Amino acid sequence: MSDIHHLDEQTIQRIAAGEVVERPASVVKELIENSLDAGATRISVAVEGGGTEFLRIRDDGHGIPESELPLAVAEHATSKISNINDLDSGVASLGFRGEALSTIGAVSKLTLRSRTADAASGAELTVDGGEIGEIEPAGCPKGTTVEVEDLFFNTPARRKFLKRDRTEFDHINTVVSQYALANPEVAIALEHDGRELFATEGTGSLRSAVLSVYGREVAESMIELDYEADDNGPIEGISGLVSDPETTRSTREYLATFVNDRYVTAATLRNAVIAGYGGQLAPDRYPFAVLFVEVPPGAVDVNVHPRKTEVRFDDEAAVEAAVQQAVESALIDNGLIRSSAPRG
Ligand code: ADP
Ligand code: MG
Repeated sequence: MSDIHHLDEQTIQRIAAGEVVERPASVVKELIENSLDAGATRISVAVEGGGTEFLRIRDDGHGIPESELPLAVAEHATSKISNINDLDSGVASLGFRGEALSTIGAVSKLTLRSRTADAASGAELTVDGGEIGEIEPAGCPKGTTVEVEDLFFNTPARRKFLKRDRTEFDHINTVVSQYALANPEVAIALEHDGRELFATEGTGSLRSAVLSVYGREVAESMIELDYEADDNGPIEGISGLVSDPETTRSTREYLATFVNDRYVTAATLRNAVIAGYGGQLAPDRYPFAVLFVEVPPGAVDVNVHPRKTEVRFDDEAAVEAAVQQAVESALIDNGLIRSSAPRG
C-alpha cells in the first residue's frame, strides 16, 4: 500500500516559510536588508513584546511603484536579479531570492505600504496568512513601511518553539545593532514598546554609531585598528574598533565581526580578536569589537543560506594571524597592553 501524494500549495508555502523565517529576529533581518537594498538613509524599527504581536520597519528608500506591490509579495519575485548570469557575475544587493516578503506574508498579517519619489500618493497591500488583498490608497512619505502582526499565527509548531518575549527581543536587538554598526552612514533606530533603545545618526562615523548603540563608556574605550595589507596575502583589509582590556562583558556577543560587510559569527575571528589581547583580559571577560575584514571574494566561502552566518576562509590560519596581529599592535600602540615575547 503506497500513499505518496503531492502536498498542497499552502502546506508547501508554510514549510518553506519556516526555513527563511525562524523567529521574529529573522523577519527584522530580512526587512532591514530590503531597506538597505532600497538605498534608505533612515530605517526605524518598532517592536512590541517579543515581536510576534507587532513589528514595523519604516524606511526612506526608493519605494515600490503601486502596480508592483502584488509582485513584491509574490513568491520568487525580485527586482534584484534577472537570471543565473547575474548570480555568476556577483550580486551587489543583500537579498535576491525574492522570498522574504512572500514567506513572511504566508505566516503573518503583513501590510506593505510604499510610495516612490515620483508618485502623487502612496498605496498599500495586505497579506493575511498568504491571502493577498486588494491595493488601497495610503497616505505616506516616500519610502516603504512593512508591518507584521501575529507572526506564526497559522504555524503553531513554529510559534511554540519561540522563547520568552525577552529572549526574542534580545535577538532582534542584536540584529538591529549589527546592521547599525555595519552601516554607520544610515540612521538606524530601534524602539521597543514605545521606548527608543537607540538611534544612530547616520553620519558615517563608526565611533558615533558605537556611541549610539553601546553608550558613551564603551565608545570612549574603543581604539581604532590600523592594518597594512601585504600585496599577495589572503586579506585585503582589517578595520574597525576594539575596546580597551578593561571594558568587557561576560559574553562573546559584543564581538561583532563582518566579512566583506556581511555579519558573520566566525569562531576563528572572535578567537583571533581575543588572542590579540595577549592574555590580559580578566578570566571569562570578553571585549567589545566591531571588526571589518575584507578578503578577495574567492578566498572565502560565505554560506549564502539566508539564516546562516557562518563563513569559512581558504586560509584560516593566515586570517587568524592577521586579525590577532592587527588587534595586538593597535592595543600596544595605544599603551593598553604590554608587548608579548617575540613570536618564533
Ligand atoms: P528580494 O529582496 O530577495 O528581492 P523580497 O521578498 O525581500 O525579495 O522583496 C521582493 C521585492 O520587493 C524586492 O526585490 C524589491 O523590489 C521590493 N522591496 C521589498 N522591500 C522593499 C523596500 N523596503 N523598499 C523598496 N523595495 C522593496
Ligand atoms: Mg529581501
